[in-house]
Amino acid sequence: MSRREILPDRTGHFGPFGGKFVPETVMAALDELERAYAASRRDARFRRELRGLLRQYAGRPTPLYHARRLSKALGSLKVYLKREDLLHTGAHKINNTLGQGLLAVRMGKRRLIAETGAGQHGVATATVAALFGVECEVFMGEEDMRRQALNVVRMRLLGARVTPVSGGTKTLKDATSEAIRNWVTTVRTTHYCIGSVVGPHPYPMLVRDFQAVIGREARAQILAAEGRLPDLLIACVGGGSNAIGLFHPFRHDRRVNMIGVEAGGASLTPGHHASTLVKGRPGILHGAYSLLLQDRFGQVLPTESISAGLDYPGVGPEHAYYQLTKRAQYVTVGDAKALRGAELLARTEGILPALEPAHAIAYLAELAPRLPRGSCVVVGLSGRGDKDVETMSASMSAKHAA
Ligand SMILES: *Cc1c(COP(=O)(O)O)cnc(C)c1O
Repeated sequence: MSRREILPDRTGHFGPFGGKFVPETVMAALDELERAYAASRRDARFRRELRGLLRQYAGRPTPLYHARRLSKALGSLKVYLKREDLLHTGAHKINNTLGQGLLAVRMGKRRLIAETGAGQHGVATATVAALFGVECEVFMGEEDMRRQALNVVRMRLLGARVTPVSGGTKTLKDATSEAIRNWVTTVRTTHYCIGSVVGPHPYPMLVRDFQAVIGREARAQILAAEGRLPDLLIACVGGGSNAIGLFHPFRHDRRVNMIGVEAGGASLTPGHHASTLVKGRPGILHGAYSLLLQDRFGQVLPTESISAGLDYPGVGPEHAYYQLTKRAQYVTVGDAKALRGAELLARTEGILPALEPAHAIAYLAELAPRLPRGSCVVVGLSGRGDKDVETMSASMSAKHAA
């Protein structure tokens, strides 16, 4: 990556990755979105409105919290947590849905659609649809609806229609395909609100821009607290939006290392994890060229993870490019370690994280003995753990029974 390279380029590419691979009908909608976004980005009123909502509605800025007891438990580090778990709806997802919701209203769209896996993005989309008074339909795999019944109720309470998807493995990948299919026939009235830095251009760029508030705040906050930049940033990677939101504003700071942590699931056997950057190969999924978990015939592999939010066979093209150019490093942490990561943070700091960022905490614990004394680390704490207590409780009783 050259020092001032603009990402993505005009055609929506991050090096070889990204682009648009969609049917003709969607192409026109993507052009419309790109133009509307370019105009909004320059418009002071749009920026002011979004800033106001992020502050008064979502709860920004989020604290950059110095976790002293965790730091001590890990040796002689200085660990800071970027507290996205304190936002309205409990995770970073609202940064993006507020941005896209505002954009949709500006484009005159009266309906939002979204895909969801764990239900977190569905809830964040249903929330802004209620806030802006527009219609909302969320596509969700039948299997996920069963596993995440509480979030289905939340979405319905917020006035959204939740449509079960019964194709394929009945999970996020299939819900995304269904949302794209629905969009093809409704583009005139509908905005498709994608939940991560994936999909065709301009989505990986605009979701990144809406999430980059995480890294911009963290950069200013750490400079105020420490008078210097951190040595290391760590965040979990599903599609990659919370991680890129933290990383992107630091990408030109050569001394700041970045590590993205993927879900290692039950094991690294094909079909039993979601470590796309670590184990994937290039291919096209959901409208973009990126890395992808696939078999040798190019069929998308099933994925597995204790954290539904990381359970996706693709990944954002900007991460694929950071890995290719060695700007960031990507690693994997399995289910059992992630659970221990959640417990470590809960016991040392009184913060129960979602199982997604628990992967990042677990990797930091593993890495800590190899880091220089006094290293300053910022961890992206993408969400809170309330949604995962049932999963954690099941694994606790299994442990106590053993
Ligand atoms: C959805 C979610 C993730 C994964 O999505 P990214 O786009 O990779 O950030 C991570 N953490 C939480 C709490 C989530 O809800």
